[in-house]
Amino acid sequence: MTGTTAGTPLRNWAGNHTYAARVVHRPATLEQVQELVAGAGRIGVLGSRHSFTAIADSTELLSLEPLADGTGYPADVVVDPGAGTVSLGGGVTYGRLAEALAPHGVALHNLASLPHISVAGAVATATHGSGVGNGNLATAVAALELVTSDGAVRHARRGDADFDGLVVGLGALGVVTRLTLDVEPAYEVRQRVYEGLSWETLQADPDAVLSCGYSVSLFTTWGRDVDLLWVKSRTDEPDPGDGELFGATPAPVDRHPIPALDPAPCTPQLGVPGPWSDRLPHFRTGFTPSAGDELQSEYLVPRRHAAAALEAVRPLAPRIRPLLQVCEIRAVAADRLWLSTAHGEPALALHFTWRPREDDVRALLADLEAALEPFGPRPHWGKLFRAGAAELSARYPRHADFVALAERLDPRGAFRNDWLEEHVLG
Ligand SMILES: Cc1cc2nc3c(=O)[nH]c(=O)nc-3n(C[C@H](O)[C@H](O)[C@H](O)COP(=O)(O)OP(=O)(O)OC[C@H]3O[C@@H](n4cnc5c(N)ncnc54)[C@H](O)[C@@H]3O)c2cc1C
Repeated sequence: MTGTTAGTPLRNWAGNHTYAARVVHRPATLEQVQELVAGAGRIGVLGSRHSFTAIADSTELLSLEPLADGTGYPADVVVDPGAGTVSLGGGVTYGRLAEALAPHGVALHNLASLPHISVAGAVATATHGSGVGNGNLATAVAALELVTSDGAVRHARRGDADFDGLVVGLGALGVVTRLTLDVEPAYEVRQRVYEGLSWETLQADPDAVLSCGYSVSLFTTWGRDVDLLWVKSRTDEPDPGDGELFGATPAPVDRHPIPALDPAPCTPQLGVPGPWSDRLPHFRTGFTPSAGDELQSEYLVPRRHAAAALEAVRPLAPRIRPLLQVCEIRAVAADRLWLSTAHGEPALALHFTWRPREDDVRALLADLEAALEPFGPRPHWGKLFRAGAAELSARYPRHADFVALAERLDPRGAFRNDWLEEHVLG
């Protein structure tokens, strides 16, 4: 065992949640994970702690994070070029994974806005990047290894019964000790940022705007115009160029998504090509991503309702703006994963980076959720939202199957916690 720490309160990345658990186990082998889980009462699994809630909290915690001194759970990364996959330890981050993939000339299909998060934690909450043709990061999972609450090790691969329920597992099913992801030949990407897209142009044809590159993000503070149209295009696909795009004009210098922030932490723009892993995330490894001092919420709605959903949110702008740092709008392709926020239908993701005023944000979320209610919004599992299990169950056709799967794999409820009971398991 690498160690068990007790007594020191641990906080999430944003600092808005202090974990109630005072014991954090750091197993160094699969056998130690099995022993710890089988012997624990209630236990939660930590990733890199970038979620904004108590989703991973419990009486005791278990972390597979590799430690700076080389101890901790094995962070090995094994590429299988023949199979077109990579297999990795349960604590590996996307940053570390991208470094390990580079010498093999292979890449992932997409990334989130930052490389700092753990793969297992991101997959567990259906974390996504953007792109009308890109499924969320969980859709790259080809197989996984799971330690369930009886201490048994289970393996599942795409196509197996229940696999589609296991991947976006919210930490409710067990400890994911190993993941296998699909890889593809490495590719280069260029980023171009355009300013001053009009709401009228966007709402007239959101699909056209969101389809103008491999991964497209819109950043707005809900003012007169959408502030930034941020296009990431692969160099083996058409370049949107340095002229006007949808009436928006090219930014003359690199931009930070949050207006007025220095773009130094951001990955290079201005059409300069670079490796997929240095262009798909907005933020560089080694820098604080986003604002740092912030909270986040996000709602995904079927993309066929994109224009109507934007129209429903815009009247709230005067209430949103005082609490907002920036809003990001992205596209996510449909998938089959039971608790994926893009399950069954292409999605539009409406993300909010808030100022760290949690009570005010939570009050506003009630109205935001009410405004989006006609579109059946699915909140990002890792961010702040209010909807409870009863409401959300109606928005996921396989919700009851997921609850049954959790009961079957974890009959003694070792991985249950208050957050899961309130929002998912009931
Ligand atoms: C600055 C910032 C930018 C972000 N950008 C994006 C973005 O671009 N797109 C997006 O979709 N989201 C984004 N997020 C949200 C983030 O991706 C999710 O909250 C994600 O779950 C964080 O992963 P984590 O490793 O920190 O997991 P944690 O927050 O530590 O845990 C999240 C969940 O994963 C479970 N889990 C973790 N590891 C394991 C494991 N080994 N086995 C079983 N369960 C496990 C936990 O129990 C918990 O349920 C961002 C967050 C921040 C702070």
